[in-house]
Amino acid sequence: MRSAAKRTSTQVLFDEKPPTNEDLHLFELAASLGFGDVHFKLDPAVDLQAIVAIHSTRLGPALGGCRLLPYPSTEAAVLDAMRLARGMTYKAAISGLPQGGGKAVLILPPYIKDREAYFESFARFVDELGGRYITAVDSGTSPADMDIVARYTSHVACTSASLAGTGDPSPHTALGVCRAIEAAVRFKLGGDDLADIHVAIQGVGHVGYPLARELHNRGARLTVCDVNPAASERCVEEFGATAVASERIYDVPCDVFAPCALGAVINDATIGRLHARIVAGAANNQLEDVRQGDVLHRRGILYAPDYVVNAGGIIQIALHDQSAMHAKIMAIYDTLTRIFEESVKTGEAPHRVADSMVESILQSADRR
Ligand code: NAD
Repeated sequence: MRSAAKRTSTQVLFDEKPPTNEDLHLFELAASLGFGDVHFKLDPAVDLQAIVAIHSTRLGPALGGCRLLPYPSTEAAVLDAMRLARGMTYKAAISGLPQGGGKAVLILPPYIKDREAYFESFARFVDELGGRYITAVDSGTSPADMDIVARYTSHVACTSASLAGTGDPSPHTALGVCRAIEAAVRFKLGGDDLADIHVAIQGVGHVGYPLARELHNRGARLTVCDVNPAASERCVEEFGATAVASERIYDVPCDVFAPCALGAVINDATIGRLHARIVAGAANNQLEDVRQGDVLHRRGILYAPDYVVNAGGIIQIALHDQSAMHAKIMAIYDTLTRIFEESVKTGEAPHRVADSMVESILQSADRR
């Protein structure tokens, strides 16, 4: 038996089970992403396994949605929370909002017995963070869930209209994506409108469907896909879209590829298949890795950085004045144009230009 007196403090902490490489990897990852803090809450009584990642509060309280999704592992859930929280910091900063970046990830249990009790427990967790994190809807949660949260904490947005809340931000996100596509088309292809511009939309859910409507109203031609056939069919009927099988969307010759389903869709397996001139869509973290953005740049495909494109939702949540909110969403066009122009001037890929702009905004905030 080892003597406790001979142990170093590290051995005392990890006496029975030394830290694994995976444990250490999370801390290295946190450092590499510029965190911040990550909080965990376990409430077995309601099957809650919750993670809140607070990437930054340098510009204001960390704002970001709450996901309720199944995950293959805890590591995958933590990684998702951390990458998304960082994206929220960047999104708020580039949009000129007084907010930091955060994200909540709830690991979906096989069955939620009591949704009220489940979201009460999550709300109390948010409340314990003392306003450093403000939660909102995201994939798998709804304004009705945020109404429950609002009964136990004031640090919540996107409650339903009955609570004078802002509801689902998706139509505002869609409008911002449409502005982004207009800016990219003007920059890359010339012309002031979207008439006859062919857009291939991957995923026509809460954002993709209103985006399809906005684009259709502006005269664009649409190809859509969705793993839910009814979602694609609705776009065929209402907007004259062509539907393709989900796996075929990367091969569609088009002007704009708009990822609106999942992250990491621009990866080694898909990038060579793209026949688009522009990539601009709503999905968070579209590039599996930053180097994919460099590949797009070398291939002459204009990539509109995702966190600039999809900021309409956070803008709607953060700004209560309707005309200020609308003006800021419309200004996504100008922000992207500045990024594209700087990219041409410096030769840097647009995602790197956008990151540099955010980093200098955050540094100036530190100096104040
Ligand atoms: P959603 O779940 O409502 O829609 C996604 C759609 O994609 C669904 O219809 C789904 O069936 C489909 N889909 C899933 N996997 C697919 C696949 N492999 N191929 C084709 N279709 C597939 O989500 P949403 O709210 O519309 O968000 C879409 C993306 O935009 C997400 O990445 C989200 O994080 C991001 N985003 C959303 C908002 C917002 O306001 N909702 C804001 C910023 C970013």
